[in-house]
Amino acid sequence: MSHVSCGRVVIRSDRLRPFIERHPWVRATAIEVVEGNPHDGGVVDVVSRQGKFIARGIYNSQSQIRVRLYTWQDESLDERFWRERIETAVALREQLGMLSPYGATRLVFSESDGLSGLIVDRYRDFLVIQVNSLGFEQRLETIARILRDVMSPRGIIARSDGDIRSQEGIALEGMVTWGEVPPGPILIQEHGLDIGVDLLTGQKTGFYLDQRDNRLATARLVKGKRVLDMFCYTGGFSLVASRFGQAKEVWAFDSSEKAIIMARANAEQNGVTNVRFEVADAFQALKSLREQGERFDVVIVDPPKFASGKSRLPEALRAYHYLNRLAIDVLNPGGYLVTCSCSGYVTREDFFNVLFGVSQQVKRDIQILEQRGAAPDHPVLLTCRETHYLKCFICRVL
Ligand code: SAH
Repeated sequence: MSHVSCGRVVIRSDRLRPFIERHPWVRATAIEVVEGNPHDGGVVDVVSRQGKFIARGIYNSQSQIRVRLYTWQDESLDERFWRERIETAVALREQLGMLSPYGATRLVFSESDGLSGLIVDRYRDFLVIQVNSLGFEQRLETIARILRDVMSPRGIIARSDGDIRSQEGIALEGMVTWGEVPPGPILIQEHGLDIGVDLLTGQKTGFYLDQRDNRLATARLVKGKRVLDMFCYTGGFSLVASRFGQAKEVWAFDSSEKAIIMARANAEQNGVTNVRFEVADAFQALKSLREQGERFDVVIVDPPKFASGKSRLPEALRAYHYLNRLAIDVLNPGGYLVTCSCSGYVTREDFFNVLFGVSQQVKRDIQILEQRGAAPDHPVLLTCRETHYLKCFICRVL
């Protein structure tokens, strides 16, 4: 595979600024012309109309993100380059003390680590690669080789997400593996709990590592309290609330039956008996709970991404409004609302405004106690604000 440029992408003069400022996504609308007929997955130079070199990246005519940029210097995008990026990313997690043998960590977080389109999560001594770009699909062997050298894992599994596959023209369905593949879920440790993670068929790479610290922050508020965990997946918030936080009882809901089965197994594995896991649509469940007069001291809402693109923003904001309104309706006065949004297109400001709107509507004051984000193995890159996707606000509702 060629590491040197096989084409040039000329940027419209009025659209040049973000790339000089090192934003890594060149969308089709910013492009004046593509020269040299680059192939999808090939290296291209991004240049101004005057022909000045701006950056180097990987081309994909099938994606709305036509070029993903990796360097603003004249250097080759070869194995050495990727190795250095991966080593730098891993070194950060090492410094953060996140490489304990039984735990799980995000080792590579796409744009935030200068590797747009590549996610690598470590679960004990297994690695799961989430391939989010065609460029990295074509370079999977190289990436796996580097990861083997740097981490010496027992096995590596590469997976891709259905939506992104079609957006990027990625062919990889099912998975590609190197070394051992765990026969079933493996147990990782988080906050002293053993959590089962299915690396092969679980959501994303198997577990939501970004919420690690938010689970602990939530658990600090729940002692002796009645907790509702909406969108609980395999029980992350619930189990930490019960065990670490000593909640009185927890009711937890998720629409995925598979997730609930794993959640129940996780409870049993850890001797947790005061969490009730149920399969249900969160909106339906909240409405029924409200009608039945059930009230809680703490409500956690951690829905999936509502805005998949900028055009979906108004719709997503309405959904966040409705959901948080329902959550507050089942919250006792003085209770805590832990509310999350993982849509990259919804800003912190947007989310404030949603909660403001809800507060107006229900005529209850909302005090924001903590404005949290993702755990530090998911850094936010200032030059790519889309990496600031997770908002987690801990509020008191009077
Ligand atoms: N809080 C979880 C992560 C939640 S991810 C944790 O800490 O691990 C979002 C979850 O919402 C997924 O598990 C998904 O199965 C679930 N989900 C998606 N749509 C839903 C709906 N309408 N009702 C309930 N759960 C839903």
